[in-house]
Formats: sequence, C-alpha cells, structure tokens
Amino acid sequence: MSQIPNSIEARDKAFQMHPLVNLREHEKIGSLVIDRGEGVYVFDTEGKRYFEGLAGLWSVAVGFGEKRLAAVAKAQMEKLAYYHLFSYKTHGPSVELAEKLINIAPVPMSKVHFTSSGSEANDLVVKLCWYRSNALGKPEKKKVIGRTKGYHGVTIASGSITGLARNHASFDLPLDRMRHTHCPDFDTMAEPGESEVAFSKRMASELEKLILEEGPETIAAFFGEPVMGSGGVYVPPETYWQEIQAVLKKYDILLVADEVITGFGRTGNWFGTETFGMQPDVMVISKQMASSYMPIAAVLMSENFYAPIADESDRIGVFGHGFTASGHPVATAVALENIKIIEERDLVGNCRTLAPRFLGHLDALSRHPRVKLKRGIGMIGALELHPDGEPGMAGTAMAAAALEEGVIGRAVGDAFCLCPPLIITAEEVDQMFAAVGRALDRLA
Ligand code: PMP
Repeated sequence: MSQIPNSIEARDKAFQMHPLVNLREHEKIGSLVIDRGEGVYVFDTEGKRYFEGLAGLWSVAVGFGEKRLAAVAKAQMEKLAYYHLFSYKTHGPSVELAEKLINIAPVPMSKVHFTSSGSEANDLVVKLCWYRSNALGKPEKKKVIGRTKGYHGVTIASGSITGLARNHASFDLPLDRMRHTHCPDFDTMAEPGESEVAFSKRMASELEKLILEEGPETIAAFFGEPVMGSGGVYVPPETYWQEIQAVLKKYDILLVADEVITGFGRTGNWFGTETFGMQPDVMVISKQMASSYMPIAAVLMSENFYAPIADESDRIGVFGHGFTASGHPVATAVALENIKIIEERDLVGNCRTLAPRFLGHLDALSRHPRVKLKRGIGMIGALELHPDGEPGMAGTAMAAAALEEGVIGRAVGDAFCLCPPLIITAEEVDQMFAAVGRALDRLA
C-alpha cells in the first residue's frame, strides 16, 4: 500500500474497477480525474476546462453546480435523510414526486414505483410483466422483445434486453426469455429507393414475423427507447412507432417506453413518447429527472398494467418486492426541484429552439471528409465516421481528438455522440461544434 503514490490517479488505478473500460488497460493508463463542474463545463485537477458534450451520461439537464439542487439536498438531509416506503410507510418528497410525474406523463398513468437506476427500473418492469402474466392466468406469456443496439441497462434482465454484444459477451447473457428485433437504422439498412415509410413497414413486418415464430401467446412485452441512445443515437424513421405499435396491439403485447435518455426534454418535448405519438403501457424514466444529481429512476404504469399486479398481491397477501432506496427522500426531493428548474427555465423550450442550430451544425460536419453520415433529433446526435483501420474504432479516435480540443463526447463504435446539457446557449452550441470540427480536422 505504501508504494502507491498519494495521487487520485495512482490510487484510482490501484483500487477501482471501472465501468466500460478494458480493465487491464485501465491499470496501465488510469483515468482523467474530473474535479468540479460549472454550467456546461467540467474541470480536471489541473484546472483544464472541458465542454461536457454528453451532459455526463446523457443526463445533467440543468448543468453542473446548480446551487438550488445542493440546497434542497442539504435541507432534506437535515430534516429526514432517509426513510423507506416498505410496510405502509411513506414520506412527503416521494409522494410529491410521484404525483408530479403522473401529472406530467404524456399518456394516462396510474402508479409510480421508484428505483435507484435505469437498469433496476427495467429489471423491475420485466419482473412485473411476469407477475402480471401469472396474475392473468397466462403463465406462458413471459418473453420480452428488445432491439439490436437497444440499451436498457446491465442487470441480468435489463442487460438481456439490451441488444449490444459488448454487454452480453462472457456474462452468459441474454437470458433465454429475451429476443431481439432489428434496430431501425434507415441510413444503412434501407434498400435502394426505399422510403422511410416503406422501411418502417418492413421493420414492423420483421417484428411480426418474430412474434409469429415465437408464438404471440408467449410474448409479454416490447421494450424500446423512443430514440436509441447508448447504441449510437438512432432516430426512428417516419411512421416507425405507429407501425410497431399496430403490431403490438394486434398480438396483445405491452409497450414499454424506455425514456431514460429521452425523458425531460431531450427531443424537444417533455417525453419522446409525445414526439413520436407513442401510447406506452409502461414508461421508464431516470437521468434528466434529477439531472443525475442523485441516483434515481422511476417506473410509470398505466391502470391496465397495474390492476392485475395489485390483484395478485392481494391474492398472495403481499407484493414481494422492494429496494432499500426506493423513493429515497433526498433523491426524490432533488428530482422534484430539478423538474421545477426545467419548468421555470423552460429548458424543454430551449431544446426546441436550439435544435435547428444543433442539427444544422451536425449537418455541416456531416460533409467533412472523415464523416460518413449524421443522426440526430432535438439536442441529441451522432456523427458516424468512416472506419479507420479496424472497424468500430473511429469513434474512440474521435473522442480522443475531441478531448484534446476540450470537448467530452461519447464514442460508440465508429460513431461520436453528443447530448449537451439542456441549459446550453446558442453561443455554447456554436463553440462546442467549432471544437468538434477542429477535432475532425486533427483526425484528417
Ligand atoms: N435505459 C436507457 C435508455 C439508458 O440510456 C440507460 C443508461 N444509459 C439505462 C436504461 C440504464 O440506466 P442506469 O445506467 O441508470 O442503470
């Protein structure tokens, strides 16, 4: 122990096992130490400033260093730092947040259950689907369909619905009740001359084929992000969700909208569900709900989804599920204040106003010789680069070049993703893209 230099870098290498790294590589090269944040920027220990082009992990809507959230957290910690919701107990912040979420939900929702992460929330939805099918006397209706490149988390069930090889490899995932249909990647999968509408119909008929092969009576739910995020930002083509929903309705399959990234303004509306005319039975939300100042997520469920579950708990005598931190008072109080800030500063409107500027910059950069195509909506986007040497590595090279230019973005295969804090200004959008442009030049 005494041989380890007393620096954060050295102790990080010595003691932490990090997410989404090559662990052996991390032992050698360590990590960039982020020390503080302010607005759209974070700073390393040397004081170097970085534009947080991914809002942390697609999540810090109100930006860094928001004092109102710190004040609410402090006040709630002093008043009631912790209480749970088990065994007929409750507390004010969880109730207020649940009511608020039901009121702002874009489709009629009946009940809310809180978790600490998006993965846990999706995991819980799978359990609830199974519980509900049993309640309805349909014990065979248990399979879940996700999509290639979909991301729903990394716990055993949510990781199984995720459709990314890197989240499955050597983990013995996916579970055998999980299936995957196509990612609606119009740019690379459309046939010559095929319109978006025709492509969407084809995606829906591929889904129907899968449902019929499996047996419609065996399938409980379809999970989808309104816009796919962590898989590389895939915006659904025109009429995609209408076509998919028609198939799900035909075979009595529940729609779970995973709004963990799209919720709270990212696409220019409060929820992606509104942007795409979706009618989900269940919504999963997290990230921008509390701007990631506290770990919190929520499952919103319709009465039709909830009622059989409540009846089943009545039959058994108890709903045998619960997390210690469900509805944590500090997390719920912070989320509530964060939503107030989103409302008061009209950050959803800000996203809608700045979207043409954001997407215009993406479009301009898509003509750069290193860029193959762009994808985006609202203020979430990706530049897909021409592969350089080994396929799937161009995004990593681009993220490194962007870091040199003072911008943090996210590499996904050959794509470089951007999703800045919703408090961003027009000038800051321009600055961010100017730096991204310089990073592309560096690569070239
Ligand atoms: N669903 C979606 C759509 C996500 O983007 C994420 C996180 N990137 C998750 C679920 C998982 O959330 P968490 O990391 O909080 O478990």
